[in-house]
Amino acid sequence: MSDQYVKVQVEQMKSFGEDEEKEGVDTEEQVPGSSPSASVSPDHPTGTDASSTSLPCKQTGKSRSKPGREDKRHTSDVASQGSVVSSEKNLNRLGYERTLQVKGTGKILQRKSEPNGNYVTIHTSKNIEEMRREEGFKLAKKRRPVTVDTSKAKTSLEALKISIKQLKWKEFPLGRRTACDIYWHGVSFHDNENIVSGQVNKFPGMIEMLRKINLSRAVRTMQELFPEEYDFYPRSWILPEEYQQFTTQIHMVKEKDATVNPTFIVKPDGGSQGDGIYLIRDPSDLKLMTGSQAKQGVVQEYIQKPLLIDKLKFDIRLYVLIKSLEPLEIYIAKEGLTRFCTEPYQEPSQKNLSHVFMHLTNYSLNVHSGNFVHSDSQSTGSKRTLSSVLYRLAAKGVDIKRVWSDIIALVIKTVIAVVPELRVYYQADIPPGKPGPTCFQILGFDILLMKNLKPVLLEVNSNPSMRIEHEQEVAPGVFEYVPSPVDEEVKVGVIRDTLRLMDPGHKKTTRAGGFEQGEEIPMEEETQEKSQDETGTLPSLCLKQVYPKYFKQFNYLRLVERIAALFIRFLGVKGNMRLGPTAFRTFIRTCKLSGSNFTMASVDILYIDITRRWSGATPDSREAGMGLQAFVEAFFYLAARRFKSLALREQVVSLLELCESQLGPQSGVEERRSLSCSRALPRTVKTQTPCLANPQLSSPAPLRRAASQDYRHQRFKPRSLRANVEN
Ligand code: ADP
Repeated sequence: MSDQYVKVQVEQMKSFGEDEEKEGVDTEEQVPGSSPSASVSPDHPTGTDASSTSLPCKQTGKSRSKPGREDKRHTSDVASQGSVVSSEKNLNRLGYERTLQVKGTGKILQRKSEPNGNYVTIHTSKNIEEMRREEGFKLAKKRRPVTVDTSKAKTSLEALKISIKQLKWKEFPLGRRTACDIYWHGVSFHDNENIVSGQVNKFPGMIEMLRKINLSRAVRTMQELFPEEYDFYPRSWILPEEYQQFTTQIHMVKEKDATVNPTFIVKPDGGSQGDGIYLIRDPSDLKLMTGSQAKQGVVQEYIQKPLLIDKLKFDIRLYVLIKSLEPLEIYIAKEGLTRFCTEPYQEPSQKNLSHVFMHLTNYSLNVHSGNFVHSDSQSTGSKRTLSSVLYRLAAKGVDIKRVWSDIIALVIKTVIAVVPELRVYYQADIPPGKPGPTCFQILGFDILLMKNLKPVLLEVNSNPSMRIEHEQEVAPGVFEYVPSPVDEEVKVGVIRDTLRLMDPGHKKTTRAGGFEQGEEIPMEEETQEKSQDETGTLPSLCLKQVYPKYFKQFNYLRLVERIAALFIRFLGVKGNMRLGPTAFRTFIRTCKLSGSNFTMASVDILYIDITRRWSGATPDSREAGMGLQAFVEAFFYLAARRFKSLALREQVVSLLELCESQLGPQSGVEERRSLSCSRALPRTVKTQTPCLANPQLSSPAPLRRAASQDYRHQRFKPRSLRANVEN
């Protein structure tokens, strides 16, 4: 890079900073701490069942831009009740106003607090919507625009620019001398290392956690504890470690029943866009080596009977926002994409195993098929909106509400599986008490619907493509990027509404440590949707909160997070990700887990044995010691020793309660409050993961547990780090 170029860049950056100052950004001005809450009833219907979730709604470009459409619908809902509801607003700094909406009339009564504490009633004939819009404009005028550093946005840039423009926020394409509110990274948290405040759109460790091997491991741990709840992930074996288990199991199954002929899909770890993927019917067809190196990856049960539309296999790309880790907040985009194969589907046979256009739904592969249909319509072509597909299924009589609620459950459970390790990364990169940004992230869930409509998780992408152009063959063999209205429709909505949710002016301040006992679960999604658009010019949010909304239904699953909380507590030095032998001993001592039949010498042997086998297996081998996955294994072992007569889940719950009671109130406050074992205990624990297609196949997970008595079952090798980037 020439000096001249650097100089120009610096000058440009300066002028950006200056521009911002020139444009009358009043840094003294107080950014409102919370949005003006709309006049909505505080007694929103609380979701008690994921199935009560509203369906993805079709949003055409036209309807999305209609101001206040959602508000109107809500207002009339409220109006039909014919009673009075109240909400409170900090409308000015002097007085405190309380607004009463007279249901059925659209009228608002305002009461203003006097310095003496009395309320004075002000009558107003303005309807609620006008009021809200006026307030919105006033506030939007007062607030300085939210600043977004887009210098590292890479291929998301186009969609991001459109979103920022729609929000009337301020973009810093070359970065900024002073801090921005939001930093948009194209790949990883570490794209820019010098951020000490604001919010970054990536979590540390997400890339590593969502690689195929780690995702499989994380889900497997959950399958061991909750086999029924986690039966949405195809049985997977980790390569090369579990090659032997894989071959033995397949041979056993085939010997038992010669008519069973399962197919498997082999995926390289960290691969994306279908790269290096192939199907096999016999373990001997596995290509285990690249030169002299063993290939890292997973071999997975192939779903042989997917749901077809127009005889084609398709999968769903769903966008999921993790708004915060602690407390856990998950949003799902109501609109997603479906990607279609370009060759009619047939069940796998030796003849068609290599037909990628028949078996793999990846856009990046199928776009090169002569049959790929580019279409500007959302309901035709090889890439369509999710809502268009769901409406089509609904027209055929499919219970799409059920499908949608199963999808929500799959998403929440998957996030719960990866959160424990993410928390370890998070505290290592952004130790509590040290200045640093907070994080959020959009993930891309790839989901297949089986013929029986059961959703199956294929993978989760840490960097889903946010391109709003697609590759098109403009001349034979010549590909160009051309605008894709379908992508734009979906992706701009997801980015814009993610930004709206992350707006620092709106953010609810929540303590890093989670909920206090008795503290209310954050507000319902309906309330949030309404509070986002101050000016009334933006469509309602396309992102729907699913967690903590469905807290009650899913929180009992967060057992490994409680183990992670113990692990983090004993890590000691800030920034650590691994437990040293002394810290492990301290954990055992503090929790009073040793005794005459489990001496400290045995503790040391346990530590050495497990740590040695896991060394290199954890994605981040920055230091030596025991990583979380190894600690979880040690914990399961300790639980099995101590509570022999119980089933695994009860063993783990019992040991957790024991440890937490020794440690006092600091550990897992949120978890203890919500993860009460009452839900976890009564269920019968099955030792076998239910099989999706071939009930005869058993997962390596129970084998691992069976081997837990001598906790020596796998040897893991270090893997190279590659992001599953779809850019
Ligand atoms: P990549 O990250 O390379 O896209 P995926 O895991 O998404 O890898 O797999 C690529 C494609 O293969 C998927 O989009 C899907 O069409 C197909 N596929 C993956 N796993 C399975 C499976 N277990 N059963 C059936 N099809 C699968």
